[in-house]
Amino acid sequence: MRFEFTSEDERFRAELRALLAANLPAGWTGPPDEADDADWALSQRMRKAIAARGWLVMHWPAEYGGQDASPMRNIIFAEEMAHHRAPGNDRFGTRMIGPVLMRYGSDEQKRKYLPDIAAGGIQWCQGYSEPDAGSDLASLKTRAVLKGDRFVVNGAKIWTSLAHRADMMFMLVRTDPGAPKHRGISMLLADMNAPGVEVRPIINMSGSHSFNQVTFDDVEVPVENLVGDLNNGWRVGMSVLNYERSGVDYVGWGQRAWDELAQFCREESGPDGRPLSADPAVRRRMAELDAELEGARLLTYEVAWHQQKGEAPAEVASMSKLAGTVANRNVLDYGMRLLGMYGVLEQGSAHAKLQGRFFKMRMYYTSGEILAGTTEIQKNLIAWRGLELPRV
Ligand SMILES: Cc1cc2nc3c(=O)[nH]c(=O)nc-3n(C[C@H](O)[C@H](O)[C@H](O)COP(=O)(O)OP(=O)(O)OC[C@H]3O[C@@H](n4cnc5c(N)ncnc54)[C@H](O)[C@@H]3O)c2cc1C
Repeated sequence: MRFEFTSEDERFRAELRALLAANLPAGWTGPPDEADDADWALSQRMRKAIAARGWLVMHWPAEYGGQDASPMRNIIFAEEMAHHRAPGNDRFGTRMIGPVLMRYGSDEQKRKYLPDIAAGGIQWCQGYSEPDAGSDLASLKTRAVLKGDRFVVNGAKIWTSLAHRADMMFMLVRTDPGAPKHRGISMLLADMNAPGVEVRPIINMSGSHSFNQVTFDDVEVPVENLVGDLNNGWRVGMSVLNYERSGVDYVGWGQRAWDELAQFCREESGPDGRPLSADPAVRRRMAELDAELEGARLLTYEVAWHQQKGEAPAEVASMSKLAGTVANRNVLDYGMRLLGMYGVLEQGSAHAKLQGRFFKMRMYYTSGEILAGTTEIQKNLIAWRGLELPRV
């Protein structure tokens, strides 16, 4: 299989790079801090600038405001955004709930939400995980009871990324506690400003506020905010996961880290006074990491190639997620090794190398192998669906 970009694809890449250069602050190295108001404002500006070109939802069908762009074109977009560590990409709206609404949403839901997502005017968050329901998501307990024309929701969601910035949450709730656990679940669209919704920050180990715990205390959700049929939420909710399980962002981030590390090796001397880049052991490990990134990148292209043909093999998406997150982590791990004791110094320290970024990124991107299904869960899926091994 050979993946090639057309000259139009390359033109698009150049236009995107020009837009990023024009809108990112001079010397921007990222990554953005979602809790920082200035970074969040930049993220909003970037999103609007991207939306104004129609690129935010270019993979959507034209009837919903998209450009029917090929999945390969979309890969270029995501990879470039990640390589620039650019804020403004919107995975929850454009990649997750948008496509779900196109497939399962009512006409009114499509009319109400899709144009806002396409214009970059609404922030969504994903309310799936709960304190006792992560990998085993179907054991979720947040309860929604239909009373007249509204659901009354009680329970707690956890690890909810961007809940502190979100206008709306697409959430899975239990609507029939008597049914087998996969069958009594529904998807609702909840207003994050409704009375009874409380968002509490959780600070992750890199020191950032990126996710939250969200509690629901008698929160009312209008019945028209049910997506798909009542008690059919498992099928609806799972349909977002293949969109979520793409390693392409991780390949973009990993490649940028590799590039910065290569530059560091050219500029920094080892104990023998020669640049690190002249050390055969360093060269060999950097070459291995480069090959690993390339392998992961090709898997993300393979996912897009399947999507282009209208197929969506879950095991290939799982392989791509696994390879991308592990490659990114391996680059950051090697970076920490090369930086040695300097690597743990934070931004602002006079002796910090690469502005203390690698340490923060290594802490932050640990999450890649947990979110959207852990590495172990991806391996299970590859074994069951790809290799058709028995479930034990
Ligand atoms: C940065 C970050 C952002 C997130 N954002 C969101 C979000 O926006 N919305 C949301 O709903 N959730 C979000 N999550 C939650 C994420 O989906 C869960 O953390 C993930 O599904 C794992 O669930 P858990 O944390 O409960 O771990 P558990 O399911 O308790 O797993 C614990 C360990 O057991 C292993 N394990 C569990 N079951 C199996 C099995 N069957 N076979 C082999 N090993 C197994 C796991 O691999 C893991 O190592 C986020 C998580 C992170 C880290």
